[in-house]
Amino acid sequence: MEASGVGAEAVLADQGATTAFVVAHPGHELRLATWIARTRPLVFILAKGARAGRSETRIQASRLLVEALGATPSDLFGVAFDSEIYGWIMNRDVKVFSALADDLREAFVARRVEFVVTDAWQNYNPVHDLTHALARVAAAEASALTGRPVEVMDYPVVMGRLAHAPLGSEHSHIEQSSQDLAAKARLIDDYPDVADDVRALDDAVGREAVSRETLHRPLNLETLRGPLDEAPWYERHGEERVRAGVYSDVLRWSHMAPIVAMLADRLSAAESRSGSAVLPALSPIAPL
Ligand SMILES: [Zn+2]
Repeated sequence: MEASGVGAEAVLADQGATTAFVVAHPGHELRLATWIARTRPLVFILAKGARAGRSETRIQASRLLVEALGATPSDLFGVAFDSEIYGWIMNRDVKVFSALADDLREAFVARRVEFVVTDAWQNYNPVHDLTHALARVAAAEASALTGRPVEVMDYPVVMGRLAHAPLGSEHSHIEQSSQDLAAKARLIDDYPDVADDVRALDDAVGREAVSRETLHRPLNLETLRGPLDEAPWYERHGEERVRAGVYSDVLRWSHMAPIVAMLADRLSAAESRSGSAVLPALSPIAPL
């Protein structure tokens, strides 16, 4: 495409910009495999995805899958075991999530990230929701620091009856040919260690899990959280699992609340800072 009408500086700046994909678990990359293959983002994954104990099988499979798609695993790729993250939430460990937001922001600044796609907040899985908030804080703070806008979009990790929060308006719909869908089906066959979630989703809510890729503008966190007097789905689900003897403790909104409050405060502080920081950067040579 001709760059007519676009300044040389803008074109040069574009070449250095990076797109980031920031998700909670290995396997989420299969939900947006066509977009990833086309965009080749820098990929951040919070949890190692161990079903039990200290297995690295799933995060290793994700690394190979991300590389096969032509994307790049970042330094924050399987930061902790799932049981550790669960423990941090149960202990209401605000500090460790604050440090994670710092690490993500520094990575965004260092790699000149200007577009971020992250898990939607869906009141389905608490780690998805925290990853969503972490990505937004890191993007807003990176933008406030550098004076460059960092756009954030999300995508529905789950859908149908599993989704328990509204989605924002659609930003883009990734067109997929029959070849794209066949390529995705091959990935699902070739990476069984990380394909189980998307397979289960396919069984639970239908082909949409594989055949539809959309990006959305995130809603504000208060809207996503839903009514404060209503327990999120994972809390009610956890109670059932404890009754069935599967879990020993229920992860409740009360464990999440102080962590989300810290992230929400940082998000609104950074958004108000970047609102004032972006303006001068847009007009470096102000007319007298
Ligand atoms: Zn997940």
